[in-house]
Amino acid sequence: MTNHPDAARVLADVPRQLLVGGQWRDATGGATLPVEDPATGETLCEVADASVADGAAALDAAVAAQAGWAATPPQERSEILYRAFQLMQQRSDDLALLMTLEMGKSLAEAKGEVAYAAEFFRWNSGEALRVDGYVKDAANGQSRVMVLKQPVGPCFFITPWNFPAAMGTRKIAPAIAAGCTMVVKPAEQTPLSMLALAALLEEAGLPPGVLNVVPTSSSPDLSAPIIADPRLRKLSFTGSTEVGRLLIAQAADQVLKVSMELGGNAPFLVFDDADLDAAVEGAMVAKMRNMGEACTSANRFYVHASVAEEFAGRLAERMSALTLGHGADEGTEVGPLIDADQRGKVTELVTDAVDKGARALTGGGPRDGAGYFFEPTVLTGVTADARLLKEEIFGPVAPISTFTDEDEAIARANDTEYGLVSYLFTRDLDRALRVAERLESGMVGLNQGLVSNAGAPFGGVKASGLGREGGNEGLAEFLETKYVAIKR
Ligand code: NAD
Repeated sequence: MTNHPDAARVLADVPRQLLVGGQWRDATGGATLPVEDPATGETLCEVADASVADGAAALDAAVAAQAGWAATPPQERSEILYRAFQLMQQRSDDLALLMTLEMGKSLAEAKGEVAYAAEFFRWNSGEALRVDGYVKDAANGQSRVMVLKQPVGPCFFITPWNFPAAMGTRKIAPAIAAGCTMVVKPAEQTPLSMLALAALLEEAGLPPGVLNVVPTSSSPDLSAPIIADPRLRKLSFTGSTEVGRLLIAQAADQVLKVSMELGGNAPFLVFDDADLDAAVEGAMVAKMRNMGEACTSANRFYVHASVAEEFAGRLAERMSALTLGHGADEGTEVGPLIDADQRGKVTELVTDAVDKGARALTGGGPRDGAGYFFEPTVLTGVTADARLLKEEIFGPVAPISTFTDEDEAIARANDTEYGLVSYLFTRDLDRALRVAERLESGMVGLNQGLVSNAGAPFGGVKASGLGREGGNEGLAEFLETKYVAIKR
């Protein structure tokens, strides 16, 4: 356990029950699931573990609230969202500490996530007032075309553990703005941040039944009947591509609208004309945000041969200077990975790369002792057949390979089934635009290592997903277009 003075209070304050139809209640049969501190392996607390029946009750509540919520004035929805934004700002320290306890990231990172998560409430508070259709004359002059935007209806959200608050608000905020009700199933490892957010939204004035929260240890069992229910109108999922594929297949039966924010395998290109200070800084952000446990994490570094040695040396120096520890302890820059499985997978990928010829400039393995820590690692001489160039590493490991020619760099960057984000460092404007246009990804970080922004359309191409979150595109995912032909 951390000795942070506020940890016990923050844990005592968070609701531990299900939220269904405005009631906080235990799971059927009183089942609970443990929430673990990944820095120590200790159980922090138990929360209600929703059954299939509880999931069904949550959908019933969302369906019952839908018509009334859709009829609520946009201004009221906007005000609720703005109050939620303000409350998140006011409670930022406590929300961040709670997140650190259940997820492991450092307090500084957790505060960054709380601020980012809150921005979705602020952005969508404005968007709620700007849902508009249009009217025009038909080309033949015989009728008017009236186009309406209406809420899609009850939604089901499944979220991952790596950004326990932001991956929720990115869906919840536009759904509220559009007038949709919802059932949220947070990741079993990190339900506390979502339960705290639900309580905060209640306080901000969100009516009963609009948001229902059902943590569970058996997501496949709880989720399948909800997805199969014809009253559900949208599924939005953030998580792995593997699970996303299963869910798309399940959604096909009802021809359910889906948004999928899936895995990534981001390339990070450094050209010979790049500002190396900016490239190293960008690499630290793109690689080390969330200990590398981010879908946007730089997974493959392709560096021009003429600057590769200097880039690798400078990156290794920065990585080796990072302080590992409990996220809530002062001075910690890098927390633990989420669990033993994740640490085992990162270890396996690094061992595979080293067996095939890579060399660790710094780090290279897990850290002994309690918690799921992995040393920040820089690998050079990574061969093309290394598994970590094909798979999401999801850990603090930067594999560096070299290139000599622009076409080669682009071809290698695009040589993956994923297409979420690419990073590109160059001072040549023509090259920057040329390469950005040819990269097969939904987002490009140009001379910067961070793309997340509540007002921008976040999302991927290829196996990285369907749809966008954030910006006006994010709201559009929750709106249905209806056209009325009006006789003149
Ligand atoms: P995961 O796919 O294992 O789990 C995500 C969620 O799905 C969890 O809530 C889990 O309980 C649930 N789940 C798992 N199997 C299910 C099933 N068969 N039916 C219904 N629900 C199921 O992913 P994770 O390990 O929690 O998160 C890491 C993954 O998420 C990475 O691949 C990462 O790239 C991706 N991610 C993507 C984005 C994005 O915006 N594109 C953002 C964050 C994370």
